Amino acid sequence: MKPEQLKKPDSLPLLLLVEDSQTTTALLSKYLGGSYHLLHATDGVIAWQLLERNPDIAVVITDIQMPNMTGHQLLVKIRRSDDDRHKNLPVIVMTTAEDNVDRNLAFLNGANDFINKPIDEMEMVARVNVHYRLASTIRELEASKKALAKQATTDSLTKLKNRRAFFEKGAIALVMARRYVSDLSVILLDIDYFKKINDTYGHQAGDEAIITVAQILNRMAHAEDTVARIGGEEFTLLLPDTNRLGAAVLAERIRVAIEREQFIFGDKIVPITVSIGIASFGVDPSESIDQLLGVADNRLYLAKNGGRNRICVNDDGKATFA
Ligand code: GH3
Ligand code: MG
Ligand code: MG
Ligand code: MG
Repeated sequence: MKPEQLKKPDSLPLLLLVEDSQTTTALLSKYLGGSYHLLHATDGVIAWQLLERNPDIAVVITDIQMPNMTGHQLLVKIRRSDDDRHKNLPVIVMTTAEDNVDRNLAFLNGANDFINKPIDEMEMVARVNVHYRLASTIRELEASKKALAKQATTDSLTKLKNRRAFFEKGAIALVMARRYVSDLSVILLDIDYFKKINDTYGHQAGDEAIITVAQILNRMAHAEDTVARIGGEEFTLLLPDTNRLGAAVLAERIRVAIEREQFIFGDKIVPITVSIGIASFGVDPSESIDQLLGVADNRLYLAKNGGRNRICVNDDGKATFA
């Protein structure tokens, strides 16, 4: 991450220098050109265009007094941007030593640092490097925070949501269904005789079957639905705005799609089926998402007991929609 460690000129971090004086521009190019790839703008308007076109700009150094758009106006534009990359860009303003009004205004407008003219080379390089490294570190931290949050809610085998994410999303969906008196259904699906697949074709084949089922579920669910793997070979679909009939129709389509899928292990085509239990907010006990899933689980049990490869939407175990 240290700029001086980057060798190829193409891979040098981009620095935007906004300065209308040729003398200052020439000086700064000399000071910083070895460690940064410099883009130059002679006023705020051009600077803004360059910022919009070059998302990789890592540091901005700006003069205050310039034609068309001043450094102050440019700063305000950068900080008010909807684009997080711009909002968090390190901006260093160049002021004259006696001008503390400009300097204070620049800080109020969101400048990260200032440097007095005439520019001292060592000081300029040191400040730019500090801000570049700080911004890089913050970006890396933000990225790993995001990745960790995703990891915590993702099932690593199938990339579906995991059990935890299902309960989190489910709790929110239940609140919404109650507030807006809307429908909400849960589908719970379990692969039939899965142990036999593992025992006959190996664990690896079992994993592949799980991934294929996950892909089918993903394909068949709507964008608003949450598809999760909540156990070894158990999956859920959380269906907002979907009543019992709608959930049953989808569940039956899923059941048929899996029944028809060609699971190939080695040189064998192996039929796989699933059993499905369904529960719906409003018609079934649904004080919590846990309770709703419990109802679906009882019906999954009925579907298994009834002979497997079937769906069950009510407590008599018959796949009727009444
Ligand atoms: P049933 O029709 O009653 O559901 O029968 P089943 O054999 O599917 O029974 P059960 O649900 O008890 O068995 C699930 C098996 O799934 C047990 C376990 O070894 C296997 N399993 C759990 N997680 C994984 C996994 O990530 N990969 C593989 N390959 N197998 C798994
Ligand atoms: Mg000027
Ligand atoms: Mg199971
Ligand atoms: Mg099973």
